[in-house]
Amino acid sequence: MRGFIIGLLLALLSMSTSATEPASMSILLLPDRVWTADGDGSHAGWVVLVRDGRIVAVGPAASVTVPAGAQRIELPGATLTPGLIDLHSHLLLHPYNETSWNDQVLKEAVPYRVLAAANHARDTLMAGFTTLRDLGTEGAGYADVSLRKAIDDGTIPGPRLFIATRAIVATGSYGPGPRGFRDDIDLPAGAQEVSGVDNVIAAVREQAGHGADWIKVYADYRWGPGGVSQTTFTAAELKALVDAAHVSGRPVSAHASTDAGMRMAIDAGVDSIEHGYGGSVDTFKRMHDRGVAYIPTLTAVESTETYFNHYVPGTSQATPRMLESQQAFRRAREAGVRIGNGSDVGVFRHGDNARELVWMAKLGMPAPQALHAATDVAARILRKEDSFGRIAPGLRADLVAFPGDPSGDIGATAHPVFVMKDGQVYRRP
Ligand SMILES: [Zn+2]
Repeated sequence: MRGFIIGLLLALLSMSTSATEPASMSILLLPDRVWTADGDGSHAGWVVLVRDGRIVAVGPAASVTVPAGAQRIELPGATLTPGLIDLHSHLLLHPYNETSWNDQVLKEAVPYRVLAAANHARDTLMAGFTTLRDLGTEGAGYADVSLRKAIDDGTIPGPRLFIATRAIVATGSYGPGPRGFRDDIDLPAGAQEVSGVDNVIAAVREQAGHGADWIKVYADYRWGPGGVSQTTFTAAELKALVDAAHVSGRPVSAHASTDAGMRMAIDAGVDSIEHGYGGSVDTFKRMHDRGVAYIPTLTAVESTETYFNHYVPGTSQATPRMLESQQAFRRAREAGVRIGNGSDVGVFRHGDNARELVWMAKLGMPAPQALHAATDVAARILRKEDSFGRIAPGLRADLVAFPGDPSGDIGATAHPVFVMKDGQVYRRP
């Protein structure tokens, strides 16, 4: 009898626990304003309700029914936005003024690079970037597959990752070798080197099989006579690469900094072009017409000019390379190309991703558009607009808050006060 009563009490206890659980998992966020990404302006007095990792409701406080027992998080003076997205990162690299790219690839063991990448992932998430497209491990093989899994499993904190694994380059075109090193030693490669249509297709399938979400290809590189930037793959190779990727359901990202490289990549059917500094007016028009996204990576240029060309931010005149990248950005805007936020972070410090947004605004992009480039527009480029990138019921609860209003002052994105990914709070006031 006594056992029965205890059993009954335990049953009642567990019933009451389970009954209160859904409410206790509800979180009500109370910022000063909400910027949903559906328009350009922010909404004063709006709140957001989150449950089980998803956004349940958003709107004026009076319109949202809050379950009893919901946790309330006040965000005074702040604006809540969708979690930010950087479409061009390298978590397995660190700034080149600390260690040159060559030395990172040649001298740093992969386990060392992976341990550092875990720190980079945490710093990125804490900076309000809840999603990255990480475009190549730069000699660290398939390490990004494990990184993505460790983040998804909750083993380490980090942004949601879309990865490109080893990336694909034409034989002899990419670093660290063969230029500048003796020709009788085998150097580790910064990417997978291939030649010929069959081998290009095999590389796509190999990387897809290992877990690549995107295929990254180098359509040009600094391997021309005298080290000038020059196209790499033939049109037939590029076309075969894109076809093999698309058949497998994977989009293609092309590194291209010359006009000719961009042309070949566009004609082959790639989905995004990275850098594009030398792009002509005609080429950006073609990108617009074909629906190819542009990722400007302005901060990468500023960084390398600072490290290697005596550029002093805030003091020096823009260098020729910087002027070229700024011209490309303006041309892309004038042509109406879809511009996604992508910084090439790794060249500079992980967690400083917001620098790219500040650059885009500095070059004339209104602050709300820069925010769109890092939220809903970026999600569309990832083909994940139904999953995240806006604040709307049903989407994943990737939410960040900044002091003041970033849709008025983009500089606020450098100072997040609140970070939530998939409904889990990582930073709060
Ligand atoms: Zn890159």
